[in-house]
Amino acid sequence: MAVAPPPWENDPAAALASVRHVFGEHGGVNMSIEASATFTVVEPETMRRMFTGELGPDRDFFIYSRHFNPTVLNLGRQLAALEGTEAAYCTASGISAISSVLLQLCSSGGHVVASATLYGGTHALLTHFLPRTCNITTTFVDITDHEAVKNAIVQGRTQVLFFESISNPTLTVADIPELSKIAHDKGTTVVVDNTFSPMVLSPARLGADVVVHSISKFISGGADVIAGAVCGPASLVNSMMDLHQGALMLLGPTMNAKVAFELSERIPHLGLRMKEH
Ligand SMILES: *Cc1c(COP(=O)(O)O)cnc(C)c1O
Repeated sequence: MAVAPPPWENDPAAALASVRHVFGEHGGVNMSIEASATFTVVEPETMRRMFTGELGPDRDFFIYSRHFNPTVLNLGRQLAALEGTEAAYCTASGISAISSVLLQLCSSGGHVVASATLYGGTHALLTHFLPRTCNITTTFVDITDHEAVKNAIVQGRTQVLFFESISNPTLTVADIPELSKIAHDKGTTVVVDNTFSPMVLSPARLGADVVVHSISKFISGGADVIAGAVCGPASLVNSMMDLHQGALMLLGPTMNAKVAFELSERIPHLGLRMKEH
């Protein structure tokens, strides 16, 4: 997926605004913690424009922190930069990032093709929960057998190809460029769980459409926080925050701003830590 050029190119005012996103509002080199659940709107007309999506977090207009919170959004920007995606948003857990993406991309009666070697919770979600609650069914395949993957994807029916870049716990490495090509040839969206290889593999740069993370593992690094993220095109992230149809907005697996702040301080040394791992 092509990454859009920064919107502040050749625009000093936009550059200044973007710097306020990168640095704190007082110019600090670390982000501030926006610990508000709800935000003030002075003009009633502004409220209407926010609800219709005309004004949004991209222009520093916030309504309510289950929708968007500035600190959580900042951590999302760090993860989008890390994964080379246009946008990202953080969730309360890795499994909520995965379940929300699948519910956003699949409709009732939908079909998923997934690797047979997956994190246990994801496997249970696909095997038991999604068929019972949404009639979304999954065909499991050996992700290293590209012929089997090709045969399992049904053009016009299979909405998602899901696999882990390096699987937990069996460490099967997926050929992301080849698998993405197979899926895209049939119009299927590729979702990759990159929990085991942040900064080692960049699925979106290798052809995947969406990258999900359990931040609870290597990104957090301390085994003390449960968190997740969805990285992908801005259109997908925005659709997941939609007030009427968004899986993140309406199921509400929101990350707390204080957690986002704490995790943001661990991103700068993730590269050093991954090298040691
Ligand atoms: C742990 C893990 C998950 C689930 O993440 P939580 O943060 O525990 O909800 C998903 N995928 C992989 C590969 C994992 O290791």
